[in-house]
Parts: sequence; C-alpha cells; structure tokens
Amino acid sequence: MTQHPWQWDEPTWRTMVGAVRAGRSLKPDRWPGGARCAVALSFDSDHETSELRDGGESVARLSWGEYGSRQGIPRIRRVLDRHGAKASFFVPAVSALLHPEEQASLAAEGHEIGLHGWIHERNTELPGDAERDLMLRSADALERITGQRPVGMRTPSWDYSAATLGIAREMELIYDSSLFADNDPYEIVQDGEDTGIVELPVEWIRDDAPYFMMNRFGAQRPYTPPEAVLDIFRREFDGAYAEGGLFLLTMHPHITGYRSRIFILEELLDHITSQGDCWVATHADIARYCAEQAGLKG
Ligand SMILES: [Zn+2]
Repeated sequence: MTQHPWQWDEPTWRTMVGAVRAGRSLKPDRWPGGARCAVALSFDSDHETSELRDGGESVARLSWGEYGSRQGIPRIRRVLDRHGAKASFFVPAVSALLHPEEQASLAAEGHEIGLHGWIHERNTELPGDAERDLMLRSADALERITGQRPVGMRTPSWDYSAATLGIAREMELIYDSSLFADNDPYEIVQDGEDTGIVELPVEWIRDDAPYFMMNRFGAQRPYTPPEAVLDIFRREFDGAYAEGGLFLLTMHPHITGYRSRIFILEELLDHITSQGDCWVATHADIARYCAEQAGLKG
C-alpha cells in the first residue's frame, strides 16, 4: 500500500534526501590570474525543442524557436564578441541537429557546447534506461557536430531524475549545472559517496525565463520590466564579487535575444568587465579549475 509522506519513517526520507546531496565546497582560495570572482554565462539553445518536447505541432511556436537561432544567437554572439567573453551553450541534440553550423562555429570560436537532453525531455517522466539512451546519443550527436565530446550537462528544465547522476558518472562528465544547493561550486555526493563531479549551481533568480516567459492560453503575462531583471542580475553579480565566489547566469536566445532585452546582457557585461578583475570563462574551464584546486580526482 502506498504511504503518504506523513507516514514515512525516518530512513525513508533520509534515503530520499541523501540520494543526491551537496558535499564539500569547491570554491577555490583564489581564481586564475588573481581574479576576484568567476563569471559563468550560459545560454540554453532550446530553439524548436520547446515545442517539440511536449509533442506540440504549432507551426507558430516552432517559428518562435527558429527565431532563437536566426536572431537570438547572432545578437548574443555580437555582445559576447565585443567583450571578448567565452560562454557555454547548452543544446538539446535535436536543436543541434537542426542547427549544426551554429554549434560548430560556436565551438570553433572557443565557446563550450554542453549537454541539454535529446529533445528537451523531462527526465523525471522517463524510464531510467530511456534517459540513459538519450544522454549517450546526445553526447554522440554533439561530438559529431562540434568535434568535441561534451564534458558537462545541464538537464532540460533542471529536471533531475533518480537515474540522472548515475548516468553522468558512467559518462565520466566532469560537471553538472542543474542543481541549487549553493551559490558556489561544490562536489556532488551520491548516497553518502563523493562522486568527483563538480556542481556549478543554478537558480531561477539568475534565469531570464521566469521573468519573461508567457503562456498564450494562460492568464499569466510577463510582469518584470527588463530594467528590473538587469538590476536583479547585477545585484547577484555584485554579491558574488563581494564574496569572491561564482556568478552563474542562465539565458535563452529565444527569450533574451530581442532588440528590447539584449541590453541586459550588454550592460551586465559592461559592469562585469569594468571591474577589471573577473574571470569570465566557460563552465567546463571553471569546473576543471575548481576540481584541480581541490585535488578532485577527474
Ligand atoms: Zn532548456
């Protein structure tokens, strides 16, 4: 008989909580080149998979995804190039297969292409063997397109199943960027055991989606002015700078890559680079550095 949560005994909820846990902090004593803090910018290039993953066949919504590639990505690239900033792009395999030249050229310019599922599926709705198959096929697809095997993952919608961490360990990924337990990098612990995998934590606060997304057929509309979003992101960065930690931001080409919103990235990067002592790097480079500093076995 299925128990209600209030009927669970202590081992039940302790085991549940202990399955994936934050271990020791991997915030290094110093960042490369004496930098005051680290900045990890990520862009989740979901493109058409936002519609495809739910089995949607709306031509209009597919074209919204296409905008992310046609207009969002080039606009974001121009801002990154102006600041000499390297970033991480997390790309569902289907999105990468639809836009291979985009991924190949980003990788050739020194940006990182990371795992972001097959078709932006929700991991908690999949059988474990299907999730594993999709993760492995996604890594193969990205490697074929970019010439580089992905070393890190961001689960679609930050949805993390009971099987996800085991698959990442089997694939020998060096980092994940889907969990929330800290501001700064930490080692992921599985059932009490150190995994050697670096977590670069995310947060909905540092994501453009919750501020701007709209469901055409729901009552909710975007309620946060772009200036306010910039203000939140800037304060998150200022806090990371003051604490000598990590500032990690998630944006989407089909959300931020607009004429009225791109200034958020532009002004944020102006603010960051004007400090003169921030290390702006890909997730992979930051994870590798933290792992080395902590003597983590790779
Ligand atoms: Zn996504």
